[in-house]
Amino acid sequence: MQTTQFQNFIGGRWVSSESGNSYPVNNPAFKNVILGTAQRSDIVDAKRAIESAHQALSRWAETPAPQRGTIIYRAFELLRARKSEFAKTITEEEGKSLSDALGEVNRSMNILEYAAGEGRRMFGQTTPSELPNTLAYTTRRPLGVVSIITPWNFPLAIPSWKIAPALICGNTVVFKPATSTPLSGINLVSLFEEAGLPPGVLNIITGPGSAIGDTLVTHPMVKGVSFTGSTDTGSRLYSMGARQLKKVQCEMGGKNAVIVLSDADIEKALTAVVEGAFGSTGQRCTATSRLIIEDAIYDNFISALIDMTKKLRIGYGLLPGIDIGPASSEEQLEQILRYIELGKVEGATLAYGGNRITGAEFDQGFYVEPTIFTDVEANMSIAQEEIFGPVLTCFKVKDFAEAISICNNVQFGLSSSIYTRDLSKAFSYVNQVEAGMLHINAPTLGGEVHLPFGGTKASGVGTREQGTEAINFFSEITTVYVDYAG
Ligand code: ADP
Repeated sequence: MQTTQFQNFIGGRWVSSESGNSYPVNNPAFKNVILGTAQRSDIVDAKRAIESAHQALSRWAETPAPQRGTIIYRAFELLRARKSEFAKTITEEEGKSLSDALGEVNRSMNILEYAAGEGRRMFGQTTPSELPNTLAYTTRRPLGVVSIITPWNFPLAIPSWKIAPALICGNTVVFKPATSTPLSGINLVSLFEEAGLPPGVLNIITGPGSAIGDTLVTHPMVKGVSFTGSTDTGSRLYSMGARQLKKVQCEMGGKNAVIVLSDADIEKALTAVVEGAFGSTGQRCTATSRLIIEDAIYDNFISALIDMTKKLRIGYGLLPGIDIGPASSEEQLEQILRYIELGKVEGATLAYGGNRITGAEFDQGFYVEPTIFTDVEANMSIAQEEIFGPVLTCFKVKDFAEAISICNNVQFGLSSSIYTRDLSKAFSYVNQVEAGMLHINAPTLGGEVHLPFGGTKASGVGTREQGTEAINFFSEITTVYVDYAG
């Protein structure tokens, strides 16, 4: 069978990397299956893409925002028509179940639809001036060329929620998808091409971030950078951008906790914890990785949790009824297994799971059991570091105050959740918890596209993503004073 070769898209043309180098894209459920080859781009390709984006900038910036919105809306309609095809690609290259992949496509559709409408809003302010016969108002301009660097866990939705607001604000884009999941990114770019986006406005180059990442941040034509990925890479890029006084936003790791108080709706909390910890193989930035339970209900909750976890169906994401697919890559599987070993060595109790799944078709992929650790202490690595896999660490606490203290005792602050019927404790939690997104009686997961997404502490830096905050990041505010006295 001939391998499909996927190309870069630069200046409105699908092209190979200058060096001619490419790399295979694998299916994490069948490690020997190659889905195609993608371009191994280097600095020359990055520069070409940035220059193309720069050339396309003035025309796109001058296109009225509602017209830019019409193109984004067309992309939304095309995505709606290709929903199942795009979801299948997500499952094939990332590994998540088809129902999770369809959820991801839905999210991307919502993003495109919302961003298209922003073309008719993009509000500024008008205010009274302190001077007579003077009009004072604000308006928005694009930043210019922006670089967008994305991870593999949401290969369609994360690029969508960065690219759509960047485009509606009149920026031109160089987009580098994650090395292991370039195909959904290429799908998204093709959608915009078909929707009628002018050449050069959106460019994609694939390949390792280590080779081209620095150029995407430091090239003088690049005025803004939006990154999602690890805290290590994000902080490196942020400091590089800051030295050149560029606008940079980074969404990074999480160690999200669910607190279950003794008065909680237990069934509801159990479902949320299982979906939050193990759904999408625990590879969501908003996944639940810590569970903090009040003493009085701890034992019963853990045993019900193990019963529910046992029922999860693990396997190839395209098969019907599968809840959990494989880890997204061999490196990811190794990282998860390393943390499981570390948890045991550090003295936590392995209450469920903990093994790589082997035998029959599982040998072909990177499968690991959903894993639950109990007797976890706050200073253990599995309690502090992002594992990014289906591993849940459980803490027993004596009361609400201790729950809050454990919840905040990590470097991250992305999302968090509490299950309680006590309104006073719920709002006290809202006031005290250090995280960007809070859920009361709902899982740590997700977010709606018209609301800000992002975290505090080591989870996020720069303006939040999505909603009107995305417009604030991808545009520059200009303040205008007009003396109309004559
Ligand atoms: P993860 O692999 O957990 O998603 P990474 O931070 O390693 O997190 O990767 C996120 C994105 O950043 C990917 O597109 C990756 O290729 C890119 N990347 C990795 N290293 C660098 C780097 N040094 N400079 C810029 N981008 C990078």
